[in-house]
Amino acid sequence: MTGPIPTSENYTFETLAAGIVAAIHRPEGHAICNSGLLDLGEGRLVFDTGLTPASAGDLATATVAAFGAGPSLVVDSHWHMDHALGNSRFTGVPIWGTRRTREILLERHDELAADLRREQLEKELKTFQAKKRSLRGAAARADHALIVQILRSLLEASDSLRIVPPDQTFETRLELPGTRGAELRSFGAGHTEADAILFLPQEKLLFAGDLVGSGIQPSLGSGDPEHWLVVLDELERLRPERIVPGHGPVLPGDGIAEVRDYVGGVLKAAGARKDATLPASIRRWEGTLSLKENLDFTRQWLAARHGRK
Ligand SMILES: [Zn+2]
Repeated sequence: MTGPIPTSENYTFETLAAGIVAAIHRPEGHAICNSGLLDLGEGRLVFDTGLTPASAGDLATATVAAFGAGPSLVVDSHWHMDHALGNSRFTGVPIWGTRRTREILLERHDELAADLRREQLEKELKTFQAKKRSLRGAAARADHALIVQILRSLLEASDSLRIVPPDQTFETRLELPGTRGAELRSFGAGHTEADAILFLPQEKLLFAGDLVGSGIQPSLGSGDPEHWLVVLDELERLRPERIVPGHGPVLPGDGIAEVRDYVGGVLKAAGARKDATLPASIRRWEGTLSLKENLDFTRQWLAARHGRK
């Protein structure tokens, strides 16, 4: 039996085509990232599990309501907690990710788990709230508000948080079961060392994880900013007509431009003198904590990669 998807405080559910639902996170909710729900014909897939087990529960409920049974397959686009910490809600369901995503979650498990301890989250929330006074402008306040929302959501869920890495891995391409022709692809390092995307060739739909975002700044600190631009070329070659980004509303096929401009702008600014004017493509984020972090990371990354100072 299938029926309407119950309302969720964490997501707005958008049916993009028969058997394909985008779960768009609500700004005030605890999911923080978008997800995809897919009826494969042979099984049902959840792409990205969100920040908390409770918000992941809404994805499970929605899958049952929309497709008549719960998820039989889960995929992590990458290892970041706002995309993968909901994994623990799907006990017994195979969880897929790139090989490197699994390795990173195993390698960094103890460090990430320490960051998720209640005392640590309380401390970090206090530190961030204290920074609020020094923020100038709407972009800086919005950037700050998102980080505070993540910390508050983690604190509320802290007793239930458990890091569960993918237990099934692929390297570059995985054809999913069923007649849709749906596939997972990885084009190497970009937002992280090995991001996965979900592509539906018949519907020309791309679930891009954090390789594409809308309205918020992408985070550069876990990947390869230069190769990210190569990955974006690959995504464009798929000729998607619609893109579900990791954050923000569903985008048209040309929605890749915003992230290309941002990553390119950060690379340019990081390679220039510190007092140089910021490129126009990133100027609207001037004064934000995320831009500062992205620039600091990219300066160091360029120095390590190309020997620049
Ligand atoms: Zn991410």
